Amino acid sequence: MKVAIMGAGLAGLACAITLEKFGIEPIIFEDREQVGDRFKNGEIILSLMNRPVRDALAYLSENYEIFLSPIGNIKAMNVFSENNQATIEGQLGFSNIRGRHQDSMEAQLARQVKSKIFFNSKFTYEELLKDFTHVILATGDAAYAKEIQNFKEDLTVTLKGAIVEGNFNCFKVASWLDSRFAPQGYGYMIPLSKTEANIVIAYPEYPENQKNNLEEMWKLYFQKVCKDIKQDLKIVDNFEVNKYIIGTCQYPRIGNTFFVGNNFGSIMPFLGFGQYVAILTGIYAAMDLCGQGSYEELTKPLKKAYTNSLVLRRAMEKLDNKALDTLVKSLDSKIIEKVFNTSSFDPLRYVSYILRPLVKNTLK
Ligand SMILES: Cc1cc2nc3c(=O)[nH]c(=O)nc-3n(C[C@H](O)[C@H](O)[C@H](O)COP(=O)(O)OP(=O)(O)OC[C@H]3O[C@@H](n4cnc5c(N)ncnc54)[C@H](O)[C@@H]3O)c2cc1C
Repeated sequence: MKVAIMGAGLAGLACAITLEKFGIEPIIFEDREQVGDRFKNGEIILSLMNRPVRDALAYLSENYEIFLSPIGNIKAMNVFSENNQATIEGQLGFSNIRGRHQDSMEAQLARQVKSKIFFNSKFTYEELLKDFTHVILATGDAAYAKEIQNFKEDLTVTLKGAIVEGNFNCFKVASWLDSRFAPQGYGYMIPLSKTEANIVIAYPEYPENQKNNLEEMWKLYFQKVCKDIKQDLKIVDNFEVNKYIIGTCQYPRIGNTFFVGNNFGSIMPFLGFGQYVAILTGIYAAMDLCGQGSYEELTKPLKKAYTNSLVLRRAMEKLDNKALDTLVKSLDSKIIEKVFNTSSFDPLRYVSYILRPLVKNTLK
């Protein structure tokens, strides 16, 4: 068996680590100069999104011997709307760094990989398919999946972010639900250290949102962040991502090609979390190749989670700022805290079941 992994990101590297455990040494093809060679940003893994698993990092190390260290375990999350705010406390998840940083999630995974990584690769999928018995498509976009008509795109997203300097608590993240600067989307702040954080707005590129001026929305967002956290932040770096595709593949495997990570549809449409599922899909593809299960079967719960998450997104998109104020007010309760902290209960599944009839016509 000759396995090529196209892309040395979360899914590709997790796949390589798992294959190696079963004695298969893949070759990894990465088009950048090194692992994580892109802008630096903060991301989080929120426990609530991964039910029934409560602690994603413990689960990955216990079950798959994949070891990851976060920047911080999240103990509190502030949620702000135009006129309200709430704080949710508990063991909510983990924050981590991505991109150009020695301890980024991908850099940590790369240190656990023994197989050869070819950097600056210009090999196409078709070329790899000719030379290898199996190809793992782990390119982090859905380009090939779309090209071969195996991808249903549900939305594309603009993400504008900055690295800011100030005083931060690594155990606390914040988010903003406010259509003035994140229409049908959200803003968030993730500390990277005690003195640095990443602030981002993310919103869907629907025609009605394209009329908005991104620079003006960003200015408003930055002012609101400074006001809400009571600091004069200094921007030291920034990035922008356009047309970031959220969707899902039709078939997780076609012939000897496996669609993993964002090619599978790892990003959950509701709040854009994709890291944990990307790693799982990499592991599952490797398990299939090693005779430990069928990729289609192993990924079935992930497909269901994607659909549930899409229902929640479509419902959230209907809320204006007044409704978001009400929603945020309701988050500030002991019941919500319990929901966040009870692992046996998957509230998103139930909420999406209830909301499905309301958004039925928006689910293509
Ligand atoms: C700004 C931003 C914020 C996010 N925040 C969060 C968050 O807070 N929580 C969360 O869970 N998720 C978040 N996500 C989503 C998450 O980052 C992705 O779902 C996850 O990284 C997908 O993993 P992947 O392995 O599919 O792709 P990646 O980890 O992106 O890896 C893809 C790799 O393939 C390489 N590649 C691309 N094309 C080729 C090619 N032709 N040949 C060879 N190699 C190629 C790339 O260079 C890259 O190294 C965020 C995404 C963005 C953009």
